[in-house]
Amino acid sequence: MATPLKRQFEVQQGTVIKKGTCSGCKKPVKLKVASSQVVYYHCPHCDEDAEPCGHHERWGHVDSLKMRHAWMIANGKIAAVKVPKDEAANLNRPPIRAVETPKPEPKPEPKKVSDYDEYGL
Ligand SMILES: [Zn+2]
Repeated sequence: MATPLKRQFEVQQGTVIKKGTCSGCKKPVKLKVASSQVVYYHCPHCDEDAEPCGHHERWGHVDSLKMRHAWMIANGKIAAVKVPKDEAANLNRPPIRAVETPKPEPKPEPKKVSDYDEYGL
């Protein structure tokens, strides 16, 4: 069975893994990891009338996984592995040669006809 996304690149709960901007008041917020390993924030800022913004946002498991992964690489917890696009994922088999499609035969040039041929002149 595949490892659930929340069990991949686990980060300690409460870790600030990114700085973002509140969607509500556009002030900077800290993105933290919840116990469920999803990334979230609760905006702590207030407006000029001291009314709390209170905006909060939570990302899904896929986006949270990408952010935790990026944070781990940035903090040296894991090494970044780049797989070249050209390289085959399965190196145990010989590379498959691209199938060449045969080029269509060039059509013979149509005979030069005079503008009056269709009239039999
Ligand atoms: Zn806010």
